[in-house]
Amino acid sequence: MLKNFISSLFPKRCMNCGLITPDAQEFLCEKCKNSLPLTGMILGSDNEIHAKINETTRVKYASSLLFFHQENIAQTLIHHMKYKNFPELGTLLAEIWLEENKNNPVLSEIESVIPVPIHAKRERKRGYNQVELCTQWLAERLNCKFDNQALVRVHHLESQTKSGKYERLERMKNAFRRTNSEAKHYLLVDDVFTTGATLTACTEELLKIPETEVSIFTLAKVR
Ligand SMILES: [Zn+2]
Repeated sequence: MLKNFISSLFPKRCMNCGLITPDAQEFLCEKCKNSLPLTGMILGSDNEIHAKINETTRVKYASSLLFFHQENIAQTLIHHMKYKNFPELGTLLAEIWLEENKNNPVLSEIESVIPVPIHAKRERKRGYNQVELCTQWLAERLNCKFDNQALVRVHHLESQTKSGKYERLERMKNAFRRTNSEAKHYLLVDDVFTTGATLTACTEELLKIPETEVSIFTLAKVR
């Protein structure tokens, strides 16, 4: 009751369009939820993101939920999730992703789910790793191990949005170290797929474990 009273004082607004949402638990109004730019790329080996990441490393399955571009809804959501202390938005997207993949048999092959780590210094500054919450949620739903210790980010790189793909790949090399985790099939989770440099570096590190396979899932993908 108190909660209802509080939410009537501070009604929750849709993160995208600002409309007051009837359900105070929701981040998006029905209209915005229905207009999400879904890529249709469920976890698999015959989609655009799979082809793209396999130009630079070896990934078994790949998937991305939303198309990301300047000022679209995906950008708004990821921005709030990353910089405005709303990691729960990642869980909302993971929930939609799971629904999109509900009849996908390859999900059962995943054994361990890993959030792409951010450097400890950045995590202290931001207070959280933006994909950790949704990765943990996903691990529980998939009945998999949530392994946020499998990889450690050892180099903190400054924003590199201006560098080219190969420069990014080169700079990202050795940015991650695996620990003593060993699984047969990892699912790496990240927020946005841009050049794939970060996911390539993480995958390469995990593939050093004998007989291991790696798949990737990103909440969004730059077109
Ligand atoms: Zn809306």
